[in-house]
Amino acid sequence: TTRIVLASRPEGAPTAANFRTETAELPPLEDGQVLLRTLYLSLDPYMRGRMSTAKSYAKPVEVGAVMVGGTVGEVLESRAPGFAKGDVALAYSGWQTHDVADASGLRKLDPGAAPVSTALGVLGMPGFTAYSGLLKIGQPKAGETVVVAAATGPVGSAVGQIAKIKGARAVGIAGGPKKCAYLLDEFGFDAAIDHRAADFAEQLKAAVPDGIDVYFENVAGPVAEAVYPLLNTYARVPVCGLIANYNAAGRPDGPDNLPAFYSRILIKSLTIRGFIQTEFVEEVFPDFLRDMTEWVADGRVRYLQDVTEGLEHAPEAFIGMLEGRNFGKVVVRVAD
Ligand code: NDP
Repeated sequence: TTRIVLASRPEGAPTAANFRTETAELPPLEDGQVLLRTLYLSLDPYMRGRMSTAKSYAKPVEVGAVMVGGTVGEVLESRAPGFAKGDVALAYSGWQTHDVADASGLRKLDPGAAPVSTALGVLGMPGFTAYSGLLKIGQPKAGETVVVAAATGPVGSAVGQIAKIKGARAVGIAGGPKKCAYLLDEFGFDAAIDHRAADFAEQLKAAVPDGIDVYFENVAGPVAEAVYPLLNTYARVPVCGLIANYNAAGRPDGPDNLPAFYSRILIKSLTIRGFIQTEFVEEVFPDFLRDMTEWVADGRVRYLQDVTEGLEHAPEAFIGMLEGRNFGKVVVRVAD
């Protein structure tokens, strides 16, 4: 297999030097295992956390080990019942071209039902994150206002569209006019605001005349600072991601905002609840697959993919995603 390993841990933003490409022999196939050829590799913000030793909900990738990641793979050889050569499955092979995997950890995909790469996006982990976090914690009601940032990404775009299905008003925040136009024209958001605009906070305020009932937190940083004063009494904040902070090397400069933040939680009776999507899998995943498959099929939920060709380009695509250079769900086409 050809694979990309973690060469060193980044300080601040990752660079190409933090990754190394190498080839390795795979172990022989045992009973219950399949040999997979990676077709698509998913690149996701959480991988930045795995590159560091900072305390998190999952163990870091060891230096010298293959980078982790969700994949769609084709079965080349099988010693597992239920899997045959030519089957396509959702796997967790990481940043490599081939893998020997236990069949128990795979989910077989139906290439006739939807493009298989959607199992890494709208019909996979990011789509599930949006669905479970929004419906279990955000609980949007008809007529309420839902705000989400990183809104053209796989999580944010699904949050906005599911909010619309539930009868809420969806306001998306994204970087740049091209992404904002896409939110309005393709994803059907009611308003779209560019967080890089000089008057971002004023634009946001004007876009939510009735205040904000659900803020689906994907980014933190200055975006969250503009959102919090606009939250209504009893607003819900599913805390999903803090991407503005992922490359931070230390404490930010400036005043201590914690007392004001706590005060607002108290005065406005806010519900602020973090989650890792895995906690909802057992309870919610079947509902998600049923609903989302239907919504994608009937066009009520659309998706946007940003496809990079070739495993060798994975590091630059990943680094770009953390800076907002992606336009939609980032996947790497590793093989046809
Ligand atoms: P995206 O494809 O949306 O990529 C990240 C986007 O974040 C960028 O494209 C950029 O969009 C935006 N961004 C980056 N830096 C900043 C910044 N400083 N301020 C504002 N926006 C910024 O990612 P995903 O949809 O895959 O993930 C979205 C969030 O959800 C992430 O925080 C991720 O960690 C989190 N997540 C959490 C899970 C959980 O279980 N809790 C599971 C999956 C994802 P733009 O150009 O529009 O600013």
